[in-house]
Amino acid sequence: RLPPFDHAPEFTIWDVVARWKELFLAGFLAVMLIVFLSFRLWVVWQRELQARQFNQLILTSLGQGVYHVDTQGLCRFINPSALNLLRTTEAEVLGHSPHVLFHGHHADGHLYSHEDCPTWKTLQDAQVRKTEEWFIRADGEGFAAEMLVAPMMEGKTMVGAVVIFEDISERKQMETRLLQLATTDELTGLHNRRYFLDRLNEAIARVRRFGETTALLMLDCDHFKQVNDRHGHGVGDDVLRGLAGILRENLRQTDIVGRLGGEEFAVLLNDTSHESALLWAERVRARVAEHEYSTADGVFVVPVSLGCTLLRADDDENTVFLRADQALYRAKQNGRNRVEWN
Ligand code: GH3
Ligand code: MG
Ligand code: MG
Repeated sequence: RLPPFDHAPEFTIWDVVARWKELFLAGFLAVMLIVFLSFRLWVVWQRELQARQFNQLILTSLGQGVYHVDTQGLCRFINPSALNLLRTTEAEVLGHSPHVLFHGHHADGHLYSHEDCPTWKTLQDAQVRKTEEWFIRADGEGFAAEMLVAPMMEGKTMVGAVVIFEDISERKQMETRLLQLATTDELTGLHNRRYFLDRLNEAIARVRRFGETTALLMLDCDHFKQVNDRHGHGVGDDVLRGLAGILRENLRQTDIVGRLGGEEFAVLLNDTSHESALLWAERVRARVAEHEYSTADGVFVVPVSLGCTLLRADDDENTVFLRADQALYRAKQNGRNRVEWN
C-alpha cells in the first residue's frame, strides 16, 4: 500500500485495528479487569450485607436487652427487646445516657451516682462486669435486672461498651419465696429453728466483738400434752399460733423469735440489759397466762415457763442453749408459769 495510488484504497476497520491493536488489547484487558474486580466487590459487599443483617437478626431476636454506649456513655444502639423491656423508643434513647434514663436511682429511691454505675466503671477500666441492678422503665416502674457490661474494643482502643440485661423479677420473687419457706415455721409463721440459730450465732459474734448485751429466752408451754389430750391436736395447734401472736406483739424490731420445735420457742433480745430482759420475760409470761382460749368444752389458759440467760463472749450455740435450758428446767421444777434466770 505504498503511494502513489491509482485511487485511494478503501479505509476499513482493519486499518484501525492494525494501527492501534496494542492499545485496543490493553483497553480490552483493562475493561475486563474492571468488570472482574467490580463483580468481586459486589460479591463481598453482598456477603457483608448478609452478615450484617444476620447480626441484626440475632440482636433483634434476643430475649435480652442489648445496648451500646460510646466512650461518653451515650447510647448509640439499642435492640427491640431492650426497648420493649424499658417501654421506650429508639428516638428517646439514642444519643442519651442510658444511666440517666433508666438507671438513675436504686430500688429504695436513693440516687445512683453515675460513677457507681457498672457501665461507667467498665468505660474507665475496660473490665467485664456482671451485676444485679434496678432498672426503671420509661413509665417509672422499676424491675430487678441482671446486667452484663463488656468493653467494646477496636484493636487496642476502647470505643465504648455493650450492655446486655434481662428482667429477673420472677427469679427474685421465687428466691424470696424459697428463702421465706426455708426460714419460716409453717404452723406459726415465726422463724424456724435454722434461721433462729443463724441469728443466735451472729448475736454471739457481736457479743464477742462489740461486747453487746443480748439475752436468750426459752419458752415451753406448760402441760401441753394435756391440751392435746383434752381438746385435740387442732386446738393444740391454735394455742401454738396464739402464743406466737403474743410473742410477736411484744417484740421490738431488732428482736428475733423462733419456734425451735414442738411447743418450744426461743427469743433473742438484742442489745438488752439483764433487767429489761427479765421485765420482758415477766410481762410475756403474765400475758400468756391470762390469754384465754375457748372451745365447746369451755375456756382455758395455757401458761408458759421461761428460762433466760445472757450471751457470753466465750459461748457457742450449745453452751448458751444449755444454760437457758437449765433455767427452763428450774422454772418447771419450781412450779411452772414462771421465769428463771441462769
Ligand atoms: P411440760 O409442762 O413439762 O412441758 O409438759 P408438756 O406436756 O408440755 O411436756 P412435753 O414437752 O413432753 O409435751 C409436749 C407435747 O407437745 C407433746 C406433743 O404431742 C405436743 N406437740 C409437739 N408439737 C406439736 C404440734 O405441732 N402441735 C400440737 N398440737 N402438739 C404438739
Ligand atoms: Mg411443755
Ligand atoms: Mg416441751
